[in-house]
Amino acid sequence: MHVASVGVTKLCFLFSLAFCGLLLLLIPTLHPPARQVELPQPRAYVRSAQTPPSPPAVAPVSPGHAGGGGGAELHGGRNHTDAARAESGGGAASARPGPRDQLEERDVFIAVKTTRKYHKSRLELLIQTWVSRAKEQTFIFTDGDDKELRLKTGVNLINTNCSAAHTRQALCCKMSVEYDKFIESQKKWFCHVDDDNYIILPRLLHLLSSFHHSQDVYLGRPSLDHPLEAVERVKSDGSVSVRFWFATGGAGFCISRGLALKMSPWASLGNFISTAEKLRLPDDCTVGYIIEALLEVGLTHSHLFHSHLENLQRLPGDGVLDQVTLSYGGLENRRNVVNVGGAFTLAEDPTRFKTVHCLLYPHTAWCPSKPRPRP
Ligand code: UDP
Ligand code: MN
Repeated sequence: MHVASVGVTKLCFLFSLAFCGLLLLLIPTLHPPARQVELPQPRAYVRSAQTPPSPPAVAPVSPGHAGGGGGAELHGGRNHTDAARAESGGGAASARPGPRDQLEERDVFIAVKTTRKYHKSRLELLIQTWVSRAKEQTFIFTDGDDKELRLKTGVNLINTNCSAAHTRQALCCKMSVEYDKFIESQKKWFCHVDDDNYIILPRLLHLLSSFHHSQDVYLGRPSLDHPLEAVERVKSDGSVSVRFWFATGGAGFCISRGLALKMSPWASLGNFISTAEKLRLPDDCTVGYIIEALLEVGLTHSHLFHSHLENLQRLPGDGVLDQVTLSYGGLENRRNVVNVGGAFTLAEDPTRFKTVHCLLYPHTAWCPSKPRPRP
């Protein structure tokens, strides 16, 4: 009996030892995975070495359309065509690895921002030139009815009923309507331009084709050479600041559908207006804030987009037709236009848009049959 009980105790002891060993082996597998979620997530993008140094601690909250330009942003393998263009003063946007779009022109939703007083002086030129080649997918967002223009030209003219004032609120109101109409359209890409931009449609399509609309893509030209710093009033109470890049609206920018859908909580159905109001930022800066600061998707810097805040004459003449957007100086700086010769003199075509158009589409009815010498 005694011998038997010693045997049982020994057996129990050995069994406990084996059990403890087994437990020790199992501990790593039984450990709850919660900590992995707490680890910092990698940023969705990497800035290239060309990114300028950090801005001062408190940079002024600047309006959109400021001059200058930022560094290129690279996402994996560079597209050779864009690389070549970058060397000749062109763009630096590059394709990301992954599937590419079989894009057609009708897949792109083009929003043109305008105001009633510019229908004659600015919009008619666009309708005569590039808009005429992309009528189905171009939507003109204005602030007043113009039945005559609509009937005469057959363009998609949308009266946003936003105020005609050049205020932050009025401009954000238009952007808000542009965003909602794009989401409704089911198109693959959203591109926004001002009414003093010329879009070189084949180049836009070529650029967008190097990405896929389901990827997170925000393409455009930064207006500053450093990220904008603003007081964070969306995610916090305003006690911290936030830094982000944004594409200047005056040069035009594009957003993939995949990314646009993710912007919805801060952009759809009037939310864009309240986001902009909280931040007290103009429309293009608010777009940058939502994408870079809230969604953590980086702006793909491209020098193929142009506003009149840069010196447009510095674009090499033989590279003009390789750009995605162009602009002109307007009344305050009439000489700031792209340097192209051809169909019209500077007096006949002060913006150079008609000349560019005739170089691209020489068979257009109103283009002279033979190009004339440079102005
Ligand atoms: N704009 C507008 N309402 C206004 C004034 C301008 O919607 O009261 C639009 C204009 O049609 C253009 C954009 O805002 O598409 C920028 O205007 P502008 O080119 O005059 O100014 P800048 O490029 O110098 O910011
Ligand atoms: Mn302008």
